[in-house]
This record gives sequence, C-alpha cells and structure tokens, in this order.
Amino acid sequence: MRAVYLETPKNAFIKSIEEPLCPMGYAKIKVKVVGICGSDVSAYKGTSPMCTYPRVIGHEIVGEIVEINTKDTRFKLGDRVILEPYVYCGKCYPCISGRTNSCENLKVLGVHIDGGMTEYISHPVHLIHKLPDNLSFEEAVMAEPLSIALHSMHRLRLKPKEYIVIFGAGQIGNLVAQASLAIGAIPILVDVLDERLSIAGNLGVRYLLNPDKEDVIEGVREITKNMMAECVVEATGSFFGIRNSLDVVAYTGRIAFVGWPNQEIPLPTALITRKELDIYGSRNSVGEFPLALEMIEKGKVNVWAIISEIISLDEVPKYLEILANEPSRFLKVLGKVE
Ligand SMILES: [Zn+2]
Ligand SMILES: [Zn+2]
Repeated sequence: MRAVYLETPKNAFIKSIEEPLCPMGYAKIKVKVVGICGSDVSAYKGTSPMCTYPRVIGHEIVGEIVEINTKDTRFKLGDRVILEPYVYCGKCYPCISGRTNSCENLKVLGVHIDGGMTEYISHPVHLIHKLPDNLSFEEAVMAEPLSIALHSMHRLRLKPKEYIVIFGAGQIGNLVAQASLAIGAIPILVDVLDERLSIAGNLGVRYLLNPDKEDVIEGVREITKNMMAECVVEATGSFFGIRNSLDVVAYTGRIAFVGWPNQEIPLPTALITRKELDIYGSRNSVGEFPLALEMIEKGKVNVWAIISEIISLDEVPKYLEILANEPSRFLKVLGKVE
C-alpha cells in the first residue's frame, strides 16, 4: 500500500509499505481522509522537537473499519470512525491520574510511531470513536484539531463573557476563537496575516488585532476597558506570542501555552508573581473527541471555513513542500485517500 514517507527532513515521497496486521484489541481501518497538521509540516522541515525519522506521518485520520479483533461490541465492520492518535502507556503517573495526553511514554501517530497518511492503519479499539452518520469524512477529520483547541479552553476553565486573547489565527487559533464564541466568551484574535484574521472575522469574531499594524497590548486594553483579558491561548510558539501573553492577561488571569517553541523562551517571572497568574501547558487532548464531533455535527463550529484545499494522498509530499515554503498560503489542507 502507498504511504507518505518522510525519510529525513525535507525528503518526503510516496513509498510502498506492508499492510498492517490486526492484533488483539485492534481494528484495521481503511483510511479515507487525512489532515495535514502544522506538526506534519514541522516534521517535514525538521523543526519538530519530537519527530523521529524515517516516519510515515499523519495523525488526523478518519476511515472505515475493515477488520476487527476484539470482544468490544461497540464496533462492527464498515463503521465510520476517527482515530485518537495519542497512544499512552496506562502505567505512569499522568496516565494513572487520567491525563493520558501527557503520558511520559506517549507515542503520537506520525510523530513517535508511524501514522495515517497511508491506505490502511491498525489502531487500539479503545482509541477509536464512531462518527455521527451525517458528518462527512472531511468534516469529521477536523475533530482532531478541534479537540486540541477545546483542551486548551478546558485547561483554562474558560467561562461565558470572559475575554480570551488568542495568539495565532491558524487552524488551532481559529478553532479556539470559534469554540469560544460558541460558549459565549469573547475572543480577541491576534495574527500578522490579515487573510487569516478576515476568515475569523467572517465567522463572527469581532476583535481582530494585527501586531504589524497596531499595538496589541494597547488594543487589548481598549477592548477590555483597562482590565486586560481573563484568559490567553498562545497558539504560535513564537517569542512574540509567549512573551506578550504575560502583558495582555489580566491580574490573576490564566494562560494556556499550546504552541511549541523550538527554542527556550526567557520570561520575566516577577510579572507572573505580581499578577498571580495561572500558566498551563496544554498538550494534545484527553476525552475531548466526542465533544469535538458533536460541535461539528451541530454546526457550533464551521470547519469548512478553514478547509482551504482537498488533495489526493499522492499530492501530499508536494504540498508539504508548499506549506513549508509558503506557510500563509493555506489554512487547512486535507488529503483524500482513494
Ligand atoms: Zn493535528
Ligand atoms: Zn503513561
């Protein structure tokens, strides 16, 4: 079967690999649609802090069950499913305390172990969710990035009417903004790309700030009438976003760091103490897939607004290069697996 094979950074091609077996506790899935994620592009560029090579990439995966090897009666052949791509050990402290997304031995598909940009994949049944009947594969695959957006909001315990500054209007930032609106919070979205801000603007996000054109700290001060924002989601991993999180957040506010910086970022910790801030790491998602699927199904977020392009599996290597060289050209690219 064909797979998107990343031999070394910047060297991706379609390779013929063996079809997987279906061991006990697993289901074998015919992959239908895969999403290209920012982390797939980082893996391609060689800037991912975690990816090892060679690697079949891809962790945003939906498809149909073609073989099943379990006594679990929830699934049957032909079921349309999404894979939760974070394979955990179940034995370490975070796993025992229910935070399997931060397992010490976490193996993410397409990052630490081979992923889903291929024709068939076998996956543990307890990490598979059935799709609502009326969701297309293209819509459903967006539940993975949405689960990450929702996890950051759950870490913050974001409440209705609270302001939330979001650094980065890429797919995660856009989904945080949409999901914040859905619960009645007030997103303030920050990005240097006007095209991305206007996509969010068309979805009803009222407050949009471009740091190349205006002072973001003053902008947030004006919008919040001097209070600053109760919550911040940092979804860029950039020095600008991380450092400015501490300035746009209110005293006693909460910050979630979602973006992955590729170097150490120095911070004025006295400011954290003075404002008595709660700063959370937010990694992957845990238990958020069912809610993500439900929100897409009920139209609480519009995933079509951020899907820029649907290509074939064979075109993925070419698009990885385009996405690496022109990061602003597309928001979300999906690969259809025929
Ligand atoms: Zn992803
Ligand atoms: Zn673990």
